[in-house]
Amino acid sequence: MGWSTVKLYFMIGLPGETMEDVMGIKELAYKVKDKFFNRPKEEIKGNLKINTSASCFVPKPFTPFQWVAQDSMDDFYEKAKTLQGSIKDKKVFFSYHEPKLSYLEAVFARGDRRLSKALMKAWEIGCRFDGWYDVFDFDKWMGAFKETGTDPDFFARRKREISEVLPWDFIDVGVNKEYLIREYEKAMEAVTTPDCRQQCFNCGVNHKLIGGACPHVQNNKQVQ
Ligand code: SF4
Repeated sequence: MGWSTVKLYFMIGLPGETMEDVMGIKELAYKVKDKFFNRPKEEIKGNLKINTSASCFVPKPFTPFQWVAQDSMDDFYEKAKTLQGSIKDKKVFFSYHEPKLSYLEAVFARGDRRLSKALMKAWEIGCRFDGWYDVFDFDKWMGAFKETGTDPDFFARRKREISEVLPWDFIDVGVNKEYLIREYEKAMEAVTTPDCRQQCFNCGVNHKLIGGACPHVQNNKQVQ
């Protein structure tokens, strides 16, 4: 259709990831380039630009990975920089989300009330608009953690046992914990779950919360 700019988004740092997986980002971008040029010359228009970017995985509550430790910032930098350094093609560009921001996201995503002191301290010492790179000051955040005796690694980089009571366990989002545990265990064995419109996997969705029966199951039959 004449488009010559493509954006490809990825995530690095997912549990079980290998360096081969990370380098797969480059391989896919190169394949897109080959597709573009492996056409009759008269069809090739525009100056091809493939923008690839990667965000750093942040484990979140109410997901099958709510128990995992986040990759270390060193791991993120190493993966991202190795990939960036390996891309020699002038048509392919690679950028990545700042690991320091992703680390803070991971701290607060699975935080609890103990973090409120650090949050207040960070505000008092001037942390504002942290999503803006020109004002984001990671050192100030680390200072706030230190001053309040808070260990950010405890929240971001710690693997939780399944038996641990999680700060958000009292909230009912509809899907039950047993389902998340099953999905977590399957993911660790690289087993995928098909689209549940084909087959129900009993996620335990709370029918009261969604105002009736699961929209995918009517009269005990799966619907598309
Ligand atoms: S079909 Fe409904 S109840 Fe079954 S897994 Fe999907 S969302 Fe959950």
